Amino acid sequence: MTPLARNTLLLLFLASRVAAAQTWPTTVAERTNFDSTSSTAQVGLFLDSLQLAGAPISVSSMGRTALGKPLYLVVASDPAVTSPAEAAASGKLVVYLQGNIHAGEVEGKEALLIVLRELAGARRDLLQKLVILVAPDYNPDGNDAFGPVAQNRGDQNGPAMVGQRADGLNLDLNRDYFKAEAPETRASLQRVYATWDPALMVDLHTTDGTRHGYLLTYAPPLDPVGPRGPTLFVQDQMLPALRTTLQDRYHEPIYDYGNVEDPVNPKSWDTYAPLGWYGVNYVGLRGRMAILSEAYSHADFRTRVQVTHDFLVEILNYAAAHADEIRQIEREADRQTALEGAGAAPRPDLAVQYKPASRGVEPIVLEMLRATGDTSARGRPRYEPTGQYRTVRIPANVMFTDSVSRPLPAGYFFPAGAADVASLLRLHGIQVERLEAPWTDTIETVAASQITWLPHEFQGHQLVQVTAIYVRAARTLPAGSFFVTTAQPLGRLVFALLEPEGWGLVRWGAFDRLLGSEFGAYSGLVYGSGNVRELPVSRAIRAPKVPMRSLVGGQQ
Ligand SMILES: [Zn+2]
Repeated sequence: MTPLARNTLLLLFLASRVAAAQTWPTTVAERTNFDSTSSTAQVGLFLDSLQLAGAPISVSSMGRTALGKPLYLVVASDPAVTSPAEAAASGKLVVYLQGNIHAGEVEGKEALLIVLRELAGARRDLLQKLVILVAPDYNPDGNDAFGPVAQNRGDQNGPAMVGQRADGLNLDLNRDYFKAEAPETRASLQRVYATWDPALMVDLHTTDGTRHGYLLTYAPPLDPVGPRGPTLFVQDQMLPALRTTLQDRYHEPIYDYGNVEDPVNPKSWDTYAPLGWYGVNYVGLRGRMAILSEAYSHADFRTRVQVTHDFLVEILNYAAAHADEIRQIEREADRQTALEGAGAAPRPDLAVQYKPASRGVEPIVLEMLRATGDTSARGRPRYEPTGQYRTVRIPANVMFTDSVSRPLPAGYFFPAGAADVASLLRLHGIQVERLEAPWTDTIETVAASQITWLPHEFQGHQLVQVTAIYVRAARTLPAGSFFVTTAQPLGRLVFALLEPEGWGLVRWGAFDRLLGSEFGAYSGLVYGSGNVRELPVSRAIRAPKVPMRSLVGGQQ
């Protein structure tokens, strides 16, 4: 080959490389110098362009929203896997990344699109170890309800126009994981959790306002009811390692999610709530790993996309490097949970009420504030930021422990009339059985007089409060009654959903109709309804010894 020909070939090669590089699409945020964020249609266009350009992804939709928009689910894999069974057979770890559940908090969506593009290029190696599921725009109805950022997201630092928190049914999707009323929740339970069973989930948010010195804050699953192994691995191994990596490699300070009650005189750094209504806590109850990511709302949009991106990349690097360990911890959690439910291992006492727990006094960086001399509508002094930071040493209340606990029962019974609850449990992937003959045994019941309805409404529900004073008594459960065993890998989730005194389905009113009660002036028993003396959910001391039929699919 002549030098000229070689140079020509080299030039052609370089030109083709440049052309190939140019075919990868850019995001709306990148094209607008981080002045704008993508609409759902623009997310779809980006994903289609990426796929057409040869990225190792398949784009589908896990369902439709209330307004009929697609809920994009991207599977990044190399070689391609098209089903959860193929993913399992490949031996790769399945990771699920979710953006935009609160649709004004938009940097997760933009960062995920960039990560997907990088998985086609420089970070393709990650797909040797991982199958990566991505829902970049988990709340399309909220996303497309664009309004000024000041209106939809308070003092979040851009972009100018963002969507709203709630979905098309006006539900907060990050309170919906138990009751699963939103089409987005139902779709993800069915098409992601109960099928792909991701080993690790990451939920991307933006903080709500406390002025601190971290570009991003994070949390592991916080409900101590969940199997301990996976949660403690995230809490004690993975997150501290990620914090060090983000600092060392990117000079990005990150720390546990929290807020201070009084920013001028901070007493403690307090995380949010342990309830499984929240996605990350919910995944912990399933015995899987999960991470909450909250980019700092006062950092500008470009910085928030960058730090969220960097955090995601390092989470993926960590998961790829520890894939075997993660899988082993989760298998052990499944095994242990099923043994406890069966009574073959000691049945644990599990929380129904919680109190914050401190990890110890830690140095925490806060922005210094000065009083404006003004007061808020509630009479509290107003402050303004100074741009200066200080380190305070205060208790880091970044976890929860039980303040009231109950022993895990062998399972729960509820009547044939609550078939809708059986369907909901099935949607969660929980095994539900029906008695084919009556079963008489000593069970634990709660008197109906122990039940009150809270006066205020939350997410369209008057929440139910149960003060459980259990009575052990002989009862006959008729044929057709449902039994849900805790001797299954999701046994801890069964407790969280069905323990009457907890924060599960009783509290959300799933059994209200069977209670026959009416809220308000006519509180008490209603004409025409049965005379209910006991809560229709009871605790089993042992599994029934009569024939039972396991529910499969949509069967009831
Ligand atoms: Zn949020």
